[in-house]
Amino acid sequence: MSRLPKLISTHSFNFDNSEGDGGLGRDARLGRNLAHGGAALDVLDSEVDSRGSWDAGLRPGSEAQVILSFDVEEHFRIEAAAGLNLAPGLKAACSERLAPSTRWILDQLDAHDQKATFFILGQIARIDPALVRDIHRAGHEVASHGWDHRRVLEMNPESFREDVRKSKDALEQVTGEAVVGYRAPTFSVVRRTAWALDVLAELGMLYDSSIYPVRHDRYGVPHAPRAPFLAQGRERQILELPPATLRLGGVNAPIGGGGYFRLLPLFLMEWAIAQVRRDVRPAVAMLYFHPWEFDPGQPRLPMRRMGRFRTYVGISRSQARLVSLLSRYRFARAVDVACRLDCQNYELSGYNVAE
Ligand SMILES: [Zn+2]
Repeated sequence: MSRLPKLISTHSFNFDNSEGDGGLGRDARLGRNLAHGGAALDVLDSEVDSRGSWDAGLRPGSEAQVILSFDVEEHFRIEAAAGLNLAPGLKAACSERLAPSTRWILDQLDAHDQKATFFILGQIARIDPALVRDIHRAGHEVASHGWDHRRVLEMNPESFREDVRKSKDALEQVTGEAVVGYRAPTFSVVRRTAWALDVLAELGMLYDSSIYPVRHDRYGVPHAPRAPFLAQGRERQILELPPATLRLGGVNAPIGGGGYFRLLPLFLMEWAIAQVRRDVRPAVAMLYFHPWEFDPGQPRLPMRRMGRFRTYVGISRSQARLVSLLSRYRFARAVDVACRLDCQNYELSGYNVAE
């Protein structure tokens, strides 16, 4: 067992937030994480969401903390379309639909007074800074999904560092607030890319959400913990917030989002949340979605039959499903859960991803 590095200090930091206060409270404090070998790792202690109990999800018998997250990327970036030769017009059509489908999500969150974490491609901050700014102004967390959706498996530590740094910088320039969370495209932090955890810690990230504790043909570290844990890379460690899973017959089913959300009955996702509450400590469930999943009218990519099925199954009912979830759960931003774990000195288990 090891303790989450102490993240919060009294160190004050004023962001140059020329875009207004965005409803977030701008007296964000930064802490210096000394547990990473003295590296200057400033992490955000943004004003922790005051709704709900600080104990929520962290003590036996309490409600699970359910993190709501969205990976903001154009539809043609998806892994199932990798290698396809897409016509420029088709890509442009996908790009045009990103902002409306993301704004539809923002409207639903606003209507239900819910906050979420948006893992956004750095490139989007350049192409459509107004969208990123509006996500931030609404009080949601802006986190990094890399620069242009290149998977970690295709990079080395140097190119990965540049990819994350560039994305972090671009997003921060738009919001004026530190980006402290990262999710790899296609959950591509796996055993052979465990060096990415070292890079994220070096860059001052507070948490990662890239390790899916499942067995899958494209991603996953099957035996990684289902609950938040300290992910050990080669030399450093970082708080990991894994996507939610449902444990069935000794196997973790990937139930936190994506095709499973669209294909399977919604009660399976709700079952997973209930199971997390009952069996997992700290009781934190991370859900993930993409804006294109809520856009039934988008152009279809010319994929093979299985790819098409995985990608478009259930897309016509996903809007109603999200609205249903928003009306029945109280969601949290990832950064708030990370800060709560730290404030309560929660004893997290460690897990060596590099081995
Ligand atoms: Zn993605």
